[in-house]
Amino acid sequence: MQTHFSESQLQIPAIQIADEVLRKCVHCGFCTATCPTYRITGDERESPRGRISLIQHLLESGEAPTATTVANLDHCLSCLACESTCPSGVSYRRLIDQGRELIEEKYRRPLFDRSLRALLAWLLPRRDWFRRALIAGRWTKSALKQAGKYSAPIKALAELIPSKSANQTNTKSDAIAPGVYLAQGAEIKRVALIIGCVQSVLAPEIDAAAVRVLTRHGCTVIVPEASKAGCCGALPHHLGKRPQGREMAELNITSWQAMLNNKEHPLDAVLMTASGCSSMLKDYPHVLEGAIDSKTLSSLIKDISVILKDLFEIKNPVIAYQTSSPKIVAWQNPCSLQHGLKEKTAPISVLESCGFTVREPLDAHLCCGSAGTYNLLQPELAGKLSAEKSCRLAETGGEFVVSGNIGCITQLSKNFSNEDTSQERKALSVIHLSQMIDWATGGPMPENIRQNSK
Ligand code: SF4
Ligand code: SF4
Repeated sequence: MQTHFSESQLQIPAIQIADEVLRKCVHCGFCTATCPTYRITGDERESPRGRISLIQHLLESGEAPTATTVANLDHCLSCLACESTCPSGVSYRRLIDQGRELIEEKYRRPLFDRSLRALLAWLLPRRDWFRRALIAGRWTKSALKQAGKYSAPIKALAELIPSKSANQTNTKSDAIAPGVYLAQGAEIKRVALIIGCVQSVLAPEIDAAAVRVLTRHGCTVIVPEASKAGCCGALPHHLGKRPQGREMAELNITSWQAMLNNKEHPLDAVLMTASGCSSMLKDYPHVLEGAIDSKTLSSLIKDISVILKDLFEIKNPVIAYQTSSPKIVAWQNPCSLQHGLKEKTAPISVLESCGFTVREPLDAHLCCGSAGTYNLLQPELAGKLSAEKSCRLAETGGEFVVSGNIGCITQLSKNFSNEDTSQERKALSVIHLSQMIDWATGGPMPENIRQNSK
């Protein structure tokens, strides 16, 4: 489509990128069919095509966004389903990132919204503070629920705080220490496993399972020291706080430089078991404007399922999980994995290699409503999306729900928990792929499955 940037605007690198992306969009509207928010509201401004027009106007005019435009852009999940659908290859993420940054620069949000966003961007990447906040949240959960009657974000926050008996054990004892975990038997592959922020507090058992299952199948795992950033930067980045996200990305790249360039022991891949974070690392060349090590990192980023699939092709998984007939599992592919990293087949393949019958829900391309901090900031839309996703997953008849991202696991666990009496749905365990494959090949039964089977 036509753009109307001035010559001086076109001197700005960010505008050059936006111009290139905008010119690719032919306004065909194919993307509207797979956009979760457009499906709910039916409003063009809540569709990818509509949002692209809104962002184009903001960039060309230089005007401050109105409250309505801010709401239309805030409602976007950054799920990237539109990118998967677009026949013209429009890179929507390049535009929405600029839109969010522009809102942050030019629009003054109401005090509560501003404070909540600042708090989330500060707190979530800081493991120790987040751990303390979680403990405090457990003690004050009932008070938060009361306060939630007056504020939807606080209600959403209270609902997401896991109780001690929930699947997230939140203990430091499960945490994986930095170091080298050698492959059992001959080394087939060598990977780095980056321990992130939120997941390492909510569910450290996921990375512990990843190390066990990888080493068991011939993969050496290097767990680097946590960088000063502590976070991949996705959380502030998607809140429009791009300088903060960029600073974290720079700190990470600097601290991983030696590991990425180790010629003696080169890496086959760099993994993060939260696909939302992997997707952000994959995008570092854009975040860091082409810095050389960011390109090396991006080329090495893979989902753990891809590495397991490769390993299983060389060394058959040793199935230790006893069952008379194959267990049926529902696979929930996170948006960051299917649309961000474009991975749809490897997770299913590794589950099937371990004897599971895998079923995907109807409308598998749609987001569960988690989307980073979206479930806290847009609880109404997130609630509708997660209720729909939970119904579709329950319809599969799966005995467990398996996913690849802590955000989706937390969001869906809430709907499938015994505590959720509002839904006529049986309690189901929602677990990470690493835990499922670890359990199937000799690791411990995941704690939430143990709890739900009592
Ligand atoms: S599908 Fe692609 S080209 Fe068509 S309107 Fe959507 S973004 Fe534009
Ligand atoms: S990223 Fe997701 S919610 Fe946002 S416009 Fe695209 S499909 Fe819609």
